[in-house]
Amino acid sequence: MIEIVSAAACVACDVCVKVCPTDVFERGEDGIPVIARQSDCQTCFMCEAYCPVDALYVSPVSAPVGADSPHADEGAVTRAGLLGGYREMVGWGRGRTAGALLDRNPVLKAVPPLQESRLPSPAPLADSPWNHLID
Ligand code: SF4
Ligand code: SF4
Repeated sequence: MIEIVSAAACVACDVCVKVCPTDVFERGEDGIPVIARQSDCQTCFMCEAYCPVDALYVSPVSAPVGADSPHADEGAVTRAGLLGGYREMVGWGRGRTAGALLDRNPVLKAVPPLQESRLPSPAPLADSPWNHLID
């Protein structure tokens, strides 16, 4: 879910406001987008992927994390290299290699689709302030 718009990094281009499929943002008077309807966020990462200056952070948690979470702390997210981290991971942005060119996923290329019951259970989340269990 969208958690952070970095006013320090944002260049007020409006791209995130336009690409969001659920109209989460409002343009602020200074041009910096405001997260106006966080509960409408679908955690699709599109805003972060399209932000040209890596000024956004979409948490992988599909619910608001709360103000005391590092996912909502711009300093913690920046220090962890996660501001715009999804965009970097998929290889969007100047000087990066598009993730599609690097994809070596052996599951997708080597085997037919598996029944869900044959897939391993997800690993339990470690006890960390970055991990949030959703009811
Ligand atoms: S993650 Fe998707 S739904 Fe959520 S604010 Fe960004 S573009 Fe909108
Ligand atoms: S896409 Fe990035 S730079 Fe453009 S308005 Fe949104 S946060 Fe600011």
